Amino acid sequence: MHNYDRKNLYIDGKWVSPTGAGVIDVIDPATEQVIGSVPSSAPEDVDAAVAAARRAFDPLVTVAERRDRLAKIIEAMEKALPDITETIGREMGAPLRIAQTAHTQLALTAARGILSTLDNYQFEERVGNSLLVREPYGVVGAITPWNYPLYQVVVKVLPAIAAGCTVVLKPANEAPLSLFELVDAIHEAGLPPGVLNLVSGPGAVIGEQIAGHPEVDLVSFTGSTTVGARVAAIAAQTVKKVTLELGGKSANVILDDADLTAAVKVGVGNCFLNGGQTCVAWTRMLVPRSRYDDALELIRGTVTRYSVGDPFDPATRIGPVASERQMETVRGFIDRAERDGARLIAGGADKIGDVGFYVAPTVFADVDPDSELGQEEVFGPVLAVIPYEDEQDALRIANGTRYGLSGAVWSGDVDRATTFARRVQTGQLDINGGRHNPLAPFGGYKQSGVGRELGRAGLEEYLQLKSLQLPE
Ligand code: NAP
Repeated sequence: MHNYDRKNLYIDGKWVSPTGAGVIDVIDPATEQVIGSVPSSAPEDVDAAVAAARRAFDPLVTVAERRDRLAKIIEAMEKALPDITETIGREMGAPLRIAQTAHTQLALTAARGILSTLDNYQFEERVGNSLLVREPYGVVGAITPWNYPLYQVVVKVLPAIAAGCTVVLKPANEAPLSLFELVDAIHEAGLPPGVLNLVSGPGAVIGEQIAGHPEVDLVSFTGSTTVGARVAAIAAQTVKKVTLELGGKSANVILDDADLTAAVKVGVGNCFLNGGQTCVAWTRMLVPRSRYDDALELIRGTVTRYSVGDPFDPATRIGPVASERQMETVRGFIDRAERDGARLIAGGADKIGDVGFYVAPTVFADVDPDSELGQEEVFGPVLAVIPYEDEQDALRIANGTRYGLSGAVWSGDVDRATTFARRVQTGQLDINGGRHNPLAPFGGYKQSGVGRELGRAGLEEYLQLKSLQLPE
């Protein structure tokens, strides 16, 4: 049984009444109906959560105890996963199959990877006469987006706890209910009080309070580049560490000797995954002029297989976008791309149906790499196809945005693709469809972010180094 009528915040190991009287409604984007609500925290609630996290923080907490905390969270996740999957389908419109795979299973795989990283990590090492000790950073403020609500929380909260930190979590307003269900399960599993605290509310108020709070030692933020820059500026006033996972405009570079059918099929699927609301989406497809017409033909055929509809219909591959605001943003981008002279070859800005925030999977050809659609993150199911002349031109276009989060290279020759990939300014690249690796660090170059999540590098973000010079 879901509890979508949330009256309490999770502070110091208990569900407690908020000081603030405000409420945030959660809307199902497929039906446009309010399905539940969460409290809107007041500044006093954030202070209480931070104080609880501070009391719970013990820099000498053993690795065995941290491991036990992680194992409890993973067990809780496993139990709660079916409920959370359904809730993600309802609160942000992810089709059930995508909610099961790309949302909850991926989050569980990431969680298990974080536990294995902890098990294999050496927290101390000798360098000459020094003992280097890696200690937990302290109280972590975690601010997360709505697009993969569970996953984004797991890849912050679990490494933080593995490092020995304590956490105050503020999830996004559009999709908070799945996280209340997660915290219910974690509460039952019996984490020590104050290790994890959950406060919901407007980012512009309580997100900023967390970023500027003198008792928060590190802010880990995932969201838009604009808000990330603001969070970093606020955090700088108390000289705290900040990690940022931000936006992207990733390039899928198809070299002239690539398997075009595979590159197009996987590329279109990647761009439209989760209705295009994926930070790592390959939203620019770079195609050699010599194979351009064939690629467009393949794209047209592939797009027809992306059926749009009810997230709970098993045939659906694209659900609604997460909110009315997001739908209007995406439609605005489509309108302006047409005005900028891009050629619409699939979809368009028209709203689909009378109810629900649906946008058709949309493809533009002949996109000018310097136009708005060639440069800016849409965060909806919109693919920009860009022709290029030669490899140098492809590299210039791939690197020609302010972002650098992800991408792909396809070639008949893996060495050629790898050589190209080394020159792309981005934190991750998949070569010929190389699959996701939960142990590989993830993060952005340029304005896509600062710092890494997952793997050893993801754990080390939450650790600081102390050098002890020993007598010889
Ligand atoms: P967003 O508007 O930047 O919001 C992200 C989070 O920040 C939300 O919890 C939001 O709270 C909060 N927030 C808003 N204004 C704030 C402020 N002034 N100070 C502190 N916190 C504030 O992003 P979004 O629309 O939720 O998510 C989409 C963006 O996230 C895209 O740009 C996407 O690329 C990026 N993203 C990046 C990654 C990555 O790993 N690099 C992963 C996923 C998403 P409210 O709910 O109140 O607005």
